[in-house]
Amino acid sequence: MTKIKNYINGDFHNPIQDNWLDNYNPSNGDVYGQIPNSSKDDVENAYNAAKAAFTSWSKTPLDERSRILIKISDLLEANLQRFAEAESKDNGKPISLAKAVDIPRAASNFRFFGNAITQFASESHESIEPNAINYTLRQPIGVVGCISPWNLPLYLFTWKIAPALVAGNCVIAKPSEVTPMTAFLLGEICNEAGLPKGVLNIVHGLGGSTGQAIIEHPDIKAISFTGGTSTGAHIAKIAAPMFKKLSLELGGKNPNIIFADCDYDDMLDTTVRSSFANQGQICLCGSRIFIEQSIYEQFKVDFVKKVKALKVGHPSKSDTNIGALVSKPHLEKVKDYIKIAKDENGTVLCGGHVVNVKGYENGYYLEPTVIEVPNNNCRVNQEEVFGPVVTIMPFASEDHVLEMANDVKYGLSATIWTNNLKRTMRMSSQLLAGIVWVNTWMLRDLRTPFGGVKASGVGREGGFEALRFFTEAKNVCIKY
Ligand code: NAD
Repeated sequence: MTKIKNYINGDFHNPIQDNWLDNYNPSNGDVYGQIPNSSKDDVENAYNAAKAAFTSWSKTPLDERSRILIKISDLLEANLQRFAEAESKDNGKPISLAKAVDIPRAASNFRFFGNAITQFASESHESIEPNAINYTLRQPIGVVGCISPWNLPLYLFTWKIAPALVAGNCVIAKPSEVTPMTAFLLGEICNEAGLPKGVLNIVHGLGGSTGQAIIEHPDIKAISFTGGTSTGAHIAKIAAPMFKKLSLELGGKNPNIIFADCDYDDMLDTTVRSSFANQGQICLCGSRIFIEQSIYEQFKVDFVKKVKALKVGHPSKSDTNIGALVSKPHLEKVKDYIKIAKDENGTVLCGGHVVNVKGYENGYYLEPTVIEVPNNNCRVNQEEVFGPVVTIMPFASEDHVLEMANDVKYGLSATIWTNNLKRTMRMSSQLLAGIVWVNTWMLRDLRTPFGGVKASGVGREGGFEALRFFTEAKNVCIKY
């Protein structure tokens, strides 16, 4: 049994009230560890450590902060195998994915922001009145809270922590209670890299108690949150009367729009990936696939054939394409949506069943599922399923598909497949989404702004956007 502890003031602590939660291994349904269900008092201890560390950390020379972050990145890379194994066991994702994507991207977050801060210059200009100059100070906020979900555990956890720290803030961070393991391991790495005590504090526990204590804390001045839309709305309500700065990265129901003039083979392979990578549990997955009428029947045959060839299996096996879903309740939720889709006249073209993986019969495995839907108004096209389930339907024209793509409460990302430049420009400017990919998917550059519109969030992360969020701009005006 692995017993995870809170990382407060550079040390590892049991929860004050000795209250623990079970940690499940999704690949076999076993309880393999325990995590603290931290109370308000644990969060208060973390806050006190962070507050005490702030004076010194906020004044630590920028290149020293940058050096420590880059050291954390180096150590993560040196521990790639250990972190990838832990991530895969905790989350159910194929270890190959954790090793090739999740952990390297977590390391990149520290390296990128370690470097970015050294390029983050602020504006200065002569005033409109003569003999006066304005300049802008970008100052750390103080103690900030970072709360992350279970789907890309270390990657999204560090995506917040790295810019927060390098900008001179002290952090109280809470990973998802469903996938706490790699955040726990990160504490050791931070100590080894020389991050001063109290600068980063990691508390574990349920959202409704530990998370709630973070968002309710009057002196935690900013919250960076990634997770579900309803949780985001709840956090906004709590934070508003205290005037906390908020960044909310929420759910998605992303359209994948395929025109007949695209590079077909490339589109097909990428669409399999954008549908089912990480068991479809990525906020950016293209879960609503719209195909131009003239190639619809051909696409249906070719896509279903490729999806049927995906191997569902134990996450540790090198030939596994689809691992386990993250938890039993989540598996049940995804199964419910397949039933709802059928009830609303959807046709399951492949998948739809739980998979018994030999030797791991209690794991949370589900076949990759393709559903042909009669319209865009059905629940499975309007609500976030967040699993290995995609819908397909044909469209008649550019206007028709644009209307359906935008007719949803979310607006995170969209993908367009076409070789028509004018159409690309028209569509990408009219799609209501924070990110539009053309002839690719999830090609990420950490300098670009990342975030959603509508119910997919408020604010932007990534590059200087993240550094702006984690600093306060102060205008200084000098008359001479
Ligand atoms: P969730 O909202 O249930 O939980 C996210 C985090 O918030 C967890 O750490 C949880 O413990 C915490 N939390 C829950 N209630 C809280 C409260 N009252 N106060 C403070 N913290 C609280 O989401 P989830 O199920 O972990 O993640 C899946 C969701 O995340 C999906 O909707 C997905 O689209 C979204 N997501 C969005 C992005 C993005 O960048 N937009 C990225 C990944 C995942």
